[in-house]
Amino acid sequence: MSWLAMGQTSSRWRNWLPSSMAAKEYGLTFDQIEYGIFLGLIEFRNMGNMGKLLNREDVEKNLGFLKSLPGRIWFYKTEVMRKYRLTRNQIDMALEAGLVRYKVVKNPHYKRLPAVRLVIMDVEENLERIRAFPKYTEREVERRKVYAERSRLRDELEFYCPRCKRSIRPPRGSRSFEDAWSGSLTREEALEKLIIAHYRHLHTDYDSARNDVDRWVKPEEVKRLTGVYKSFKEFLAFYIGWKEEMDREEREYYIAIIRQLRGIATERAKRHFSYVARKLAEEDGLLKPREENKSA
Ligand SMILES: [Zn+2]
Repeated sequence: MSWLAMGQTSSRWRNWLPSSMAAKEYGLTFDQIEYGIFLGLIEFRNMGNMGKLLNREDVEKNLGFLKSLPGRIWFYKTEVMRKYRLTRNQIDMALEAGLVRYKVVKNPHYKRLPAVRLVIMDVEENLERIRAFPKYTEREVERRKVYAERSRLRDELEFYCPRCKRSIRPPRGSRSFEDAWSGSLTREEALEKLIIAHYRHLHTDYDSARNDVDRWVKPEEVKRLTGVYKSFKEFLAFYIGWKEEMDREEREYYIAIIRQLRGIATERAKRHFSYVARKLAEEDGLLKPREENKSA
């Protein structure tokens, strides 16, 4: 049975009408109705998914007032922040001080984080006072300071790569950057490492060459680790061909050897291509030739 049918057939329901019908019948917006409820002017019953049932008498009694309200009353906190250029802290303090009426609602984007909706008229009326509140909490100030300092360090560790024809900033999660941040590397040392790493990854064959394990590990070394095989390629082919027949422990044993061989190859490739990268960076004038290179 629809609400409409209920309203017409049962006297028990006659004085109650769903808010969607009230909106249509009395020419109100949902915000105007909700505001009436919020102010305690309209008695209501919550019907879960079906919305709210309103006391018709209350709606009629307050109709003039409800109609005099702006069509949109409830604004999300983030909307208010954007609209009036306020910060989160300023709004939080306004709510705490009781300057702005608000309600906590379900967040349309993040289910776990409730959203706050504010009465826009209250914000407008108190705008000057709200603007006078501090923009940030002490913790925010501290956090922003750290962020600014890290940005500044990033700026300092930026360099222009003539081969890419653009400025290169330390990549996110860069170890050299973190070492410079913690002070275990000087700026100069970190910058040098960043330049070499950039050249190694982008301007040498390092990333593909290091996967060619046999280029870096001698046959006798492979044999010493694997017992039988003289090349990584051969050993890998054996593993892939037989792994289905191995039990877990055996598989793990061979995987560990594969990792170890790859690790040795990467280490040696890195050393070799870092040298190549340094030479390229020196040619480009980004790094000064080392003393030992001069004499050699
Ligand atoms: Zn480059």
